[in-house]
Amino acid sequence: MTMKGQMMGMPLLISSIITQAVKHYGNNEIVSRRTEGDTHRYTYRECELRVSKLTQAFGRLGVKQGERVGTLAWNGYRHLEIYYGVSGMGAVCHTINPRLFADQLCYIVTHAEDQYICFDLTFLPIIEAMAAQVPGVKGWICMTDEAHMPKSSMPLLCYETLIEAESGDYEWPVFDENSASSLCYTSGTTGNPKGALYTHRSTVLHSYASALPDSLGCSAHDVILPVVPMFHVNAWGLPYSVPLVGAKLVFPGPKLDGASVYQLFEEEGVTFSAGVPTVWLGLLQHVQANRLKFSTFRRTVIGGSACPPAMIKALNALDVEVIHAWGMTEMSPLGTTCKLQRKHDKLSQEEKQHILEKQGHAIYGVDMKIVDGEGKDLPWDGKAFGDLLVRGYWVIDSYFKSTESPLRDGWFPTGDVATIDADGYMQITDRSKDVIKSGGEWISSIDVENVAAMHPAVHMAACISIHHPKWDERPMLVVVKKPGAELSREEMLKFFEGKVAKWWIPDDVQFVTEIPLTATGKMLKLKLREQFKDYTLPTAHA
Ligand code: ADP
Repeated sequence: MTMKGQMMGMPLLISSIITQAVKHYGNNEIVSRRTEGDTHRYTYRECELRVSKLTQAFGRLGVKQGERVGTLAWNGYRHLEIYYGVSGMGAVCHTINPRLFADQLCYIVTHAEDQYICFDLTFLPIIEAMAAQVPGVKGWICMTDEAHMPKSSMPLLCYETLIEAESGDYEWPVFDENSASSLCYTSGTTGNPKGALYTHRSTVLHSYASALPDSLGCSAHDVILPVVPMFHVNAWGLPYSVPLVGAKLVFPGPKLDGASVYQLFEEEGVTFSAGVPTVWLGLLQHVQANRLKFSTFRRTVIGGSACPPAMIKALNALDVEVIHAWGMTEMSPLGTTCKLQRKHDKLSQEEKQHILEKQGHAIYGVDMKIVDGEGKDLPWDGKAFGDLLVRGYWVIDSYFKSTESPLRDGWFPTGDVATIDADGYMQITDRSKDVIKSGGEWISSIDVENVAAMHPAVHMAACISIHHPKWDERPMLVVVKKPGAELSREEMLKFFEGKVAKWWIPDDVQFVTEIPLTATGKMLKLKLREQFKDYTLPTAHA
């Protein structure tokens, strides 16, 4: 039998993060572009005072521990206050993705049983359209002051008025670290969205691990701007890991176009950022078109979908290091980050680049493996690919209100297909749903897309499977050209020669003006497959 140790049993609670920020970095800034149109700035110390007042206000409204408070909001200081206030008091902060369809929003709010919903001015039309269908919501809190309260037929509460009424004299309650802290639904490209219910413990451990130098590497030296929304898996944990290290925090509010983000980077001296590839496309286009440079911006995390090597190169050319990361809502979300090790110092630039294109190492706290169709472990040789399974301190055990276990022998199946090399670097070849099976062999749609993205005329490219009478499925490339660029089908196909195996070259190319995106900014290949489901490939009759 083991012996019980004699260390304090202090629970891991989210409130300790903001307390740490105030005690040690109290004067460091949080800067936010607001929906009101201006820029707001204050310190961690001022932030915590308002968080305390907000907590008192929620108490006065009758919110109890364990109950859910929803948010429909951009990245901003009020959203941050709700993160800490709601979780800190022992209630559950439910971030809602406003880009979801109306019926999904109603489903989520009803399923979560949100008591109150806090929303940014921008989202008034959404809540007005939704309110009648979600009678369980007791009140709607508009995240602004009296002067900016919108006209509405609905009774609305004013965020600033609620805060002003309180003293801020509040002590953080201490409770079980396994208590629920926040709730985030998967965007549910198929079926109803499912809720991942995080705990204080999982969130604190995730923040700890993600701040490590070879994870995201956050430090008090940094000025950090999460472009990834706080409604997309808690902005990958940055609202926790940034205050934990005391860095200056910059929030972009509703303006996420290239020009606005660039301006904010320059004005606030941003050193580090994070976002999905589609966001960087916009920023890169703005910077390249106007021949701009970044004065302070040096590192960014890119994840959520595969980061095309062409994007890594383009950012490197602007002196920006790219940290490729992989994760998912069910994993809080961070699973892997890609960084080089000392032993790689002697490699050529090209060899280093090749490694950095992978999704990388599991960060401490996450364990991963790949298995074949029968569930048997596959070797870590960088060649064998199979279903990627994970387990860890911040991986879900089951979905909110579901009694069915999604686990396989204690492991969570990610739905991704991957290889892992002998050094432990993982590379996603595809989502299992997106894999193209041609004559019984698999083609990685991500690899095909990555090659297409290297063509200077390509803005965005998706590779999807199309039915083929002989091969079952063959790849087809759907391309959005850069504005003003010329590109023919033949030229595009020729570009693949020598870059991928011959039978991986798509059978056809379709040019479109737009590729549909999911609520989290990923290419919605399901929709594309539907769109082209009756399409006959020119090779079908050959
Ligand atoms: P949703 O699709 O609902 O937005 P998530 O944001 O949780 O859900 O998406 C998780 C999925 O995104 C992963 O299972 C994986 O397929 C994909 N993904 C995330 N990061 C990467 C990456 N760096 N490379 C390839 N795929 C990624």
